[in-house]
Amino acid sequence: MGTKGREIVGKDVNKLVEMLNKALADEWLAYYQYWVGTKVVKGPMREATTAELLQHAAEELGHAELLSNRLIQLGGTPLLTPEDWYKMSNCGYESPEDPYVEVVLDQNIKGEQCAIDVYRKLVDFTKDIDPVTYEIVLSILADEIEHEEDLQALAEDIHIMRERR
Ligand code: FE
Ligand code: FE
Ligand code: MG
Repeated sequence: MGTKGREIVGKDVNKLVEMLNKALADEWLAYYQYWVGTKVVKGPMREATTAELLQHAAEELGHAELLSNRLIQLGGTPLLTPEDWYKMSNCGYESPEDPYVEVVLDQNIKGEQCAIDVYRKLVDFTKDIDPVTYEIVLSILADEIEHEEDLQALAEDIHIMRERR
Protein backbone atom coordinates (compact mmCIF):
# COMPACT_ATOMS: atom_id res chain seq x y z
CA MET A 1 0.00 0.00 0.00
CA GLY A 2 1.25 3.47 -0.89
CA THR A 3 1.18 5.61 2.21
CA LYS A 4 0.96 8.92 0.35
CA GLY A 5 -1.69 7.51 -1.99
CA ARG A 6 -3.79 6.60 1.03
CA GLU A 7 -3.02 9.82 2.88
CA ILE A 8 -4.41 12.09 0.17
CA VAL A 9 -7.86 10.56 0.67
CA GLY A 10 -7.69 11.78 4.27
CA LYS A 11 -9.92 10.95 7.20
CA ASP A 12 -12.66 9.40 5.07
CA VAL A 13 -10.55 6.49 3.87
CA ASN A 14 -12.03 3.92 6.27
CA LYS A 15 -15.57 4.90 5.38
CA LEU A 16 -14.64 4.69 1.70
CA VAL A 17 -13.11 1.24 2.14
CA GLU A 18 -16.34 0.07 3.75
CA MET A 19 -18.47 1.51 0.96
CA LEU A 20 -16.28 -0.14 -1.68
CA ASN A 21 -16.47 -3.49 0.09
CA LYS A 22 -20.25 -3.25 0.26
CA ALA A 23 -20.31 -2.53 -3.47
CA LEU A 24 -17.96 -5.48 -3.99
CA ALA A 25 -20.46 -7.74 -2.19
CA ASP A 26 -23.17 -6.48 -4.54
CA GLU A 27 -21.04 -7.19 -7.59
CA TRP A 28 -20.41 -10.81 -6.63
CA LEU A 29 -24.08 -11.43 -5.94
CA ALA A 30 -25.01 -9.68 -9.20
CA TYR A 31 -22.45 -11.76 -11.05
CA TYR A 32 -23.92 -15.00 -9.77
CA GLN A 33 -27.52 -13.89 -10.25
CA TYR A 34 -26.79 -13.16 -13.92
CA TRP A 35 -24.68 -16.23 -14.42
CA VAL A 36 -27.15 -18.70 -12.94
CA GLY A 37 -29.91 -16.84 -14.80
CA THR A 38 -28.28 -17.78 -18.11
CA LYS A 39 -28.50 -21.43 -17.10
CA VAL A 40 -32.17 -21.53 -16.12
CA VAL A 41 -33.98 -18.79 -18.08
CA LYS A 42 -36.86 -19.92 -20.31
CA GLY A 43 -39.36 -18.23 -22.58
CA PRO A 44 -39.51 -15.97 -25.60
CA MET A 45 -36.23 -14.49 -26.83
CA ARG A 46 -34.29 -16.90 -24.69
CA GLU A 47 -31.19 -16.66 -26.85
CA ALA A 48 -31.03 -12.87 -26.92
CA THR A 49 -31.70 -12.76 -23.18
CA THR A 50 -29.05 -15.33 -22.37
CA ALA A 51 -26.47 -13.42 -24.42
CA GLU A 52 -27.27 -10.18 -22.59
CA LEU A 53 -27.24 -11.80 -19.13
CA LEU A 54 -23.92 -13.45 -19.89
CA GLN A 55 -22.40 -10.17 -21.03
CA HIS A 56 -23.63 -8.47 -17.88
CA ALA A 57 -22.24 -11.25 -15.70
CA ALA A 58 -18.82 -10.68 -17.26
CA GLU A 59 -19.13 -6.93 -16.68
CA GLU A 60 -20.11 -7.36 -13.02
CA LEU A 61 -17.03 -9.51 -12.58
CA GLY A 62 -15.00 -6.71 -14.16
CA HIS A 63 -16.49 -4.30 -11.62
CA ALA A 64 -15.45 -6.64 -8.79
CA GLU A 65 -11.93 -6.56 -10.21
CA LEU A 66 -11.83 -2.76 -10.34
CA LEU A 67 -13.20 -2.40 -6.81
CA SER A 68 -10.80 -4.98 -5.35
CA ASN A 69 -7.77 -3.34 -6.92
CA ARG A 70 -8.79 0.06 -5.60
CA LEU A 71 -9.55 -1.38 -2.14
CA ILE A 72 -6.01 -2.71 -1.94
CA GLN A 73 -4.53 0.60 -3.09
CA LEU A 74 -6.44 2.26 -0.27
CA GLY A 75 -4.99 -0.14 2.29
CA GLY A 76 -8.21 -2.13 2.61
CA THR A 77 -8.84 -5.84 2.20
CA PRO A 78 -11.44 -7.09 -0.28
CA LEU A 79 -14.07 -9.27 1.44
CA LEU A 80 -12.43 -12.62 2.05
CA THR A 81 -15.42 -14.91 2.35
CA PRO A 82 -18.69 -15.36 0.43
CA GLU A 83 -20.56 -15.22 3.75
CA ASP A 84 -19.76 -11.51 3.78
CA TRP A 85 -21.41 -10.99 0.40
CA TYR A 86 -24.83 -11.44 1.98
CA LYS A 87 -23.94 -9.59 5.17
CA MET A 88 -22.45 -6.56 3.43
CA SER A 89 -24.60 -6.32 0.32
CA ASN A 90 -26.71 -3.23 -0.34
CA CYS A 91 -28.80 -4.80 -3.06
CA GLY A 92 -29.15 -8.42 -1.92
CA TYR A 93 -29.81 -11.39 -4.13
CA GLU A 94 -32.90 -12.58 -5.96
CA SER A 95 -32.77 -16.23 -6.85
CA PRO A 96 -34.48 -17.09 -10.14
CA GLU A 97 -36.92 -19.60 -8.62
CA ASP A 98 -39.28 -18.77 -11.46
CA PRO A 99 -37.17 -19.08 -14.62
CA TYR A 100 -39.66 -17.30 -16.89
CA VAL A 101 -37.77 -14.70 -18.88
CA GLU A 102 -39.84 -11.69 -17.81
CA VAL A 103 -39.49 -12.59 -14.15
CA VAL A 104 -35.73 -13.03 -14.43
CA LEU A 105 -35.43 -9.74 -16.31
CA ASP A 106 -37.46 -7.92 -13.65
CA GLN A 107 -35.27 -9.31 -10.88
CA ASN A 108 -32.15 -8.14 -12.65
CA ILE A 109 -33.67 -4.74 -13.47
CA LYS A 110 -34.33 -4.26 -9.76
CA GLY A 111 -30.71 -5.15 -9.04
CA GLU A 112 -29.47 -2.63 -11.58
CA GLN A 113 -31.67 0.10 -10.15
CA CYS A 114 -30.21 -0.59 -6.73
CA ALA A 115 -26.68 -0.58 -8.18
CA ILE A 116 -27.34 2.79 -9.82
CA ASP A 117 -28.24 4.23 -6.38
CA VAL A 118 -25.14 2.68 -4.81
CA TYR A 119 -22.75 4.12 -7.40
CA ARG A 120 -24.51 7.46 -7.49
CA LYS A 121 -23.76 7.72 -3.76
CA LEU A 122 -20.16 6.62 -4.27
CA VAL A 123 -19.73 9.21 -7.02
CA ASP A 124 -21.03 11.93 -4.68
CA PHE A 125 -18.91 10.69 -1.78
CA THR A 126 -15.63 10.58 -3.74
CA LYS A 127 -16.11 13.66 -5.92
CA ASP A 128 -14.18 16.04 -3.69
CA ILE A 129 -11.94 13.64 -1.76
CA ASP A 130 -10.60 10.98 -4.10
CA PRO A 131 -10.35 11.59 -7.86
CA VAL A 132 -8.99 8.10 -8.53
CA THR A 133 -11.90 6.24 -6.94
CA TYR A 134 -14.24 8.84 -8.41
CA GLU A 135 -13.20 7.92 -11.91
CA ILE A 136 -13.66 4.21 -11.21
CA VAL A 137 -17.11 4.49 -9.66
CA LEU A 138 -18.23 6.91 -12.37
CA SER A 139 -17.32 4.38 -15.06
CA ILE A 140 -19.14 1.62 -13.16
CA LEU A 141 -22.18 3.87 -12.76
CA ALA A 142 -22.25 4.35 -16.54
CA ASP A 143 -22.16 0.56 -17.01
CA GLU A 144 -25.01 -0.01 -14.55
CA ILE A 145 -27.12 2.60 -16.33
CA GLU A 146 -26.46 0.78 -19.59
CA HIS A 147 -27.35 -2.56 -17.98
CA GLU A 148 -30.71 -1.27 -16.78
CA GLU A 149 -31.45 0.09 -20.24
CA ASP A 150 -30.45 -3.15 -22.01
CA LEU A 151 -32.71 -5.23 -19.76
CA GLN A 152 -35.64 -2.87 -20.02
CA ALA A 153 -35.32 -2.88 -23.82
CA LEU A 154 -35.45 -6.69 -23.83
CA ALA A 155 -38.44 -6.71 -21.49
CA GLU A 156 -40.16 -4.18 -23.72
CA ASP A 157 -39.58 -6.26 -26.86
CA ILE A 158 -41.00 -9.35 -25.18
CA HIS A 159 -43.99 -7.35 -24.05
CA ILE A 160 -44.60 -5.98 -27.57
CA MET A 161 -44.28 -9.45 -29.05
CA ARG A 162 -46.92 -10.77 -26.68
CA GLU A 163 -49.32 -7.86 -27.32
CA ARG A 164 -49.06 -8.16 -31.10
CA ARG A 165 -49.86 -11.81 -31.35
FE1 FE B 1 -21.74 -3.92 -11.52
FE1 FE C 1 -24.91 -4.16 -13.66
MG1 MG D 1 -25.43 -5.14 -22.14
